Amino acid sequence: MTQTYGEGHRVLVTGGAGFVGSHLVDALLARGAEVVAVDNLITGSAANIAHLAGEPRFSFVEADVIEGIPVSGKLDAILHFASPASPPVYQQFPVETLKVGSYATFNCLDLAKEHGARFLMASTSECYGDPSVHPQPESYWGNVNPIGPRSMYDEAKRFSEAVTSTYRNFHGVDTAIVRIFNTYGPRMSISDGRAIPNFVAQALRGEPITVHGDGSQTRSICYASDLVAGILALLDSGQPGPINVGTTHELTMAELAKLIVTLTGSASEVVFTDRPKDDPEMRRPDLTLASELLGYAPKVDPEEGLRETIAYFASTLSATAEA
Ligand code: NAD
Ligand code: UDP
Repeated sequence: MTQTYGEGHRVLVTGGAGFVGSHLVDALLARGAEVVAVDNLITGSAANIAHLAGEPRFSFVEADVIEGIPVSGKLDAILHFASPASPPVYQQFPVETLKVGSYATFNCLDLAKEHGARFLMASTSECYGDPSVHPQPESYWGNVNPIGPRSMYDEAKRFSEAVTSTYRNFHGVDTAIVRIFNTYGPRMSISDGRAIPNFVAQALRGEPITVHGDGSQTRSICYASDLVAGILALLDSGQPGPINVGTTHELTMAELAKLIVTLTGSASEVVFTDRPKDDPEMRRPDLTLASELLGYAPKVDPEEGLRETIAYFASTLSATAEA
């Protein structure tokens, strides 16, 4: 795939101080691009971009993209990654989640239209809800409860896809939609409540590992660097998507908990707790389109990725203990 966006381009990343956003910022800077990150730090952290202080091609604007995007000057691409992403956290900020998927998507697309910039939206496997088709191809319309406890996130993302498609079809904006499957890695917030940060933190602290239900539900886990490679390939490709990006490393949550106990060498026991309502039973992307259209091939296996992630969380915990 030819690299289209890099040196000489100016790229805006909303949610650029978040887990995925900050890795994208790093990758775009490494390509030689100028990058502007906008983030209100509702779930992200200034620490994720602290290493970029003094980088002349990087700037950070602390702002809520629901209210507007206070960035002037030409833009070649806009990557909309702002949104709470963890179930307990988006349930803590339900209205903010609905608005960042709706108002903020309009704000980004209006800006993309003004600049003739390419727009790429971070969508999600949650668009498939609790899927009745497995693995999930992009052609599957999903099984989402529109009034359930996950709806503020799932429906916000589905609406965001609808706005994106409308601006493409009726306003001629160059758009792309990536449907991201469960991604993990350094810079995830240790307290965000998702399975991997929870299990790793619990294992490192010697606390019980809380597996919801009987742990037979599955997720397919993707390391951050593989996701970033897929997103940049989509950005370069000119393809509209939606395109799934993730891996076929499908694990039950009981298997994931056991693997993390082994890799941390923890003495923690696994305990089984209540299962949240509407929690999807299974999830695995059909990666045919990503492979054929983007040449996408994830490289990092779960053990390798989890070892890196465990090392990151261990250093976060020891820094907190020292403070
Ligand atoms: P994250 O919480 O680490 O990052 C989200 C960032 O967006 C944070 O820095 C947060 O402060 C910022 N943000 C939220 N609302 C904002 C607002 N109104 N204005 C400005 N900034 C705002 O989560 P993440 O895992 O890095 O997710 C990034 C994006 O990828 C999200 O859009 C998420 O829905 C999507 N996604 C992630 C995954 C995953 O597995 N990590 C899966 C599917 C989709
Ligand atoms: N989960 C769990 N224990 C936890 C946190 C999550 O068993 O402490 C389960 C959760 O119910 C779901 C799976 O792990 O079945 C993945 O959850 P996560 O929040 O990471 O991602 P999502 O549900 O958004 O795919």
